[in-house]
Amino acid sequence: MSDNNRNKIDTRAIQSILKENKKQIKLGLTMCAHCSMCAESCFLYMSKDYDPEYMPSYKFLNSIGKLYKKKGKVSNGRLEKMRDLVFENCVLCTRCYCPFGINIPSLITLGRRICRSQGVFREYDK
Ligand code: SF4
Ligand code: SF4
Repeated sequence: MSDNNRNKIDTRAIQSILKENKKQIKLGLTMCAHCSMCAESCFLYMSKDYDPEYMPSYKFLNSIGKLYKKKGKVSNGRLEKMRDLVFENCVLCTRCYCPFGINIPSLITLGRRICRSQGVFREYDK
C-alpha cells in the first residue's frame, strides 16, 4: 500500500477548486455528445488498442466530471484511480480535438491539480 492511501481527504479544498472552475467543468459535462471524435486524435488511445480508458472524453468524464457530480466527495481509492487516468493515461500533448469546443487537456489538468492538492500523484513526481 502506498503512502497515498493514508491521506486524509480535504473535501473543502477539492470543492473550492471545483467551484473556481465550475463553468468550464459544467460546460464539458453538458456539451459532450459522446461522439468519440476526440478519440481519433489521441495517439495514446490508438497505441493502446482502442482501450476505452484512454479515450479523451472517458478521461475527463471519469475524473473531474465524476468528482464534480459527487460534489467533491471522494475516497482515497477513487482518487488513486483518478490519478491513474489523469497522469498515466494522458501526456497532455493537447492534440485531442473536440468539435464542440471542449478543452479536454485543460479538464484533465484540473484533475491533476485536484490530485496534487491531496498529495496524490505519481511516485516519481515526489
Ligand atoms: S469529441 Fe467532444 S463531444 Fe465528442 S466525445 Fe469527445 S469530448 Fe465529447
Ligand atoms: S492531451 Fe491526453 S487525451 Fe488529449 S490527445 Fe494528448 S494524450 Fe490524448
